[in-house]
Amino acid sequence: MPYPMSAIKENLEKIRARIEAAALRAGRDSQSVKLIAVSKKIDSQLIEEAIACGQTLFGENYMQEAKEKINLLHTPAQWHFIGHIQSKKAKDAATLFDLVHTVDRVKLATALDKHAGLAGKTLSVLVQINVSGETQKEGVAQENAEELLAAMGELPNLKVKGLMTMPPFMDNPEEVRPFFRTLRLLGEHFAAKGYFDRRDAFELSMGMSGDFEVAIEEGATLVRVGTAIFGPRL
Ligand SMILES: *Cc1c(COP(=O)(O)O)cnc(C)c1O
Repeated sequence: MPYPMSAIKENLEKIRARIEAAALRAGRDSQSVKLIAVSKKIDSQLIEEAIACGQTLFGENYMQEAKEKINLLHTPAQWHFIGHIQSKKAKDAATLFDLVHTVDRVKLATALDKHAGLAGKTLSVLVQINVSGETQKEGVAQENAEELLAAMGELPNLKVKGLMTMPPFMDNPEEVRPFFRTLRLLGEHFAAKGYFDRRDAFELSMGMSGDFEVAIEEGATLVRVGTAIFGPRL
């Protein structure tokens, strides 16, 4: 059953207001926070609805699904890739997306760089860090992040814009605050060392439906919100 049209509009309005309030609480300009509508498993028709409500930035997790939707949609939008990438899918990742959030190993970075170069583009990427140290989690371990960033600095077709993380799931968003704070501190540290495209401004991709306000209070510049916009995924 399709999600009622009005819900997406209302949901987006509510989330934008909550983003603004969270930014205000943190003394930040709400313009410094971008909302990514996470549209995995969501029909292109609903994505078109969100676009009609002024939402132009979307995040996808699965390469094949994303490819089909991007090719199908009539209205132009901006696409970020936020899922795990197998190195053999690096070509699609490098050509279809404006920002890839999930670079966590040299092999993948090298493959993305190669395909960006072949496509004649410079690809913007984030480095995904496993801040919690949970072993089953994707992302580079904190202690190996600098080595990865240094290697990526040698790749001419990648622009490293900042960091991304996916903290462990917690019922209480306050419990994830320390992980968001850690990512911000790592971002500041690496920015000062010149590992990012810009020293004065870098991206922090953190926060989802349940915890984006806490993430904004801790410095998120990109929040990835799915369920709170589109409703539960089937
Ligand atoms: C699915 C997903 C989201 C969105 O999660 P919601 O809880 O639906 O907001 C954000 N980030 C990543 C990496 C995801 O896979």
